[in-house]
Amino acid sequence: MGLAEYRRKRRFAVTPEPAGATRPGRRGPKTLAFVVQKHSATRLHYDFRLEWKGVLLSWAVPKGPSLDPSVKRLAVQVEDHPLEYAKFEGIIPRGEYGGGTVMIWDRGTWTPGVPDVDAALARGELKFALCGKKLRGSWVLVRTRRTEAGKPQWLLLKHRDAFASTEDITVTQPRSVVSKRLLAEIAWHEGGDMERAAAGDPPGEIQKLIANPRLVARRRRGRPAVWHSGGGARR
Ligand code: MN
Repeated sequence: MGLAEYRRKRRFAVTPEPAGATRPGRRGPKTLAFVVQKHSATRLHYDFRLEWKGVLLSWAVPKGPSLDPSVKRLAVQVEDHPLEYAKFEGIIPRGEYGGGTVMIWDRGTWTPGVPDVDAALARGELKFALCGKKLRGSWVLVRTRRTEAGKPQWLLLKHRDAFASTEDITVTQPRSVVSKRLLAEIAWHEGGDMERAAAGDPPGEIQKLIANPRLVARRRRGRPAVWHSGGGARR
C-alpha cells in the first residue's frame, strides 16, 4: 500500500507522529519487528503492526489480541504505517486523525510461518510467530469476505501451543512495555485526555492509583516524552 494514505490523513506540523522516511527503509538481513499499540481514540482499540517491506502492515483490533485459541478477534486492516511508528508512544492532538493516547503495549520480532508472505497476504491467510514481551508463539491472520468502511476485515487467532492460555492478557498486562505506564499515566504526563485514557485502563488498576497516588508512574527525567526517534516528524 505504501505510506500515501497514512500521510494524507495526518498534519505533521500538529501531530507528534512520525511522517516516515521519504523512501521506505531498506530491508536488511535483520529480523522483522512487530508492535501492538493500545490506542484510546474515538473507540479504544489495539493497533497490530507487522514490519514488511519497509513499512508496518497495520490492523486495528477493537478487543485486542487473545491468547485463547478458541477466540477470534476482529482485525480491520488499515493503512500501512512508517517503521518509525513502532517507537511512538504519546498523545495525538485532539481533532487530529486518531486523536487520543497511544501506548506501546507490546513489541518484539515476528517470523513468517510461510515461505511467501506476499502470496499469503494476497490469499488472505498469514501464519506467523511472535516473539514479544506479552505475545509469543504461533498466530494467524485470516481475511474474511467482509469489509468495514471499505477496509478488509481479518480475524486474528492464536494457534494452540505452549503460549496459548485463557488468561485475558489485556486485563492482566495493561501497561506499556517501554514505560510501564497505563494509558491514564501517559495522558497525565503528556497533556492528553486523562478521563478518556483512564476509561481504557482496567478499572482495578485505576482504583489502585486513586487509593495510593504515590504509585503513579513517575515521568523519568531525561527521557523523551514521546518514544519515537523524532526523525522526520517535527519540522
Ligand atoms: Mn489506532
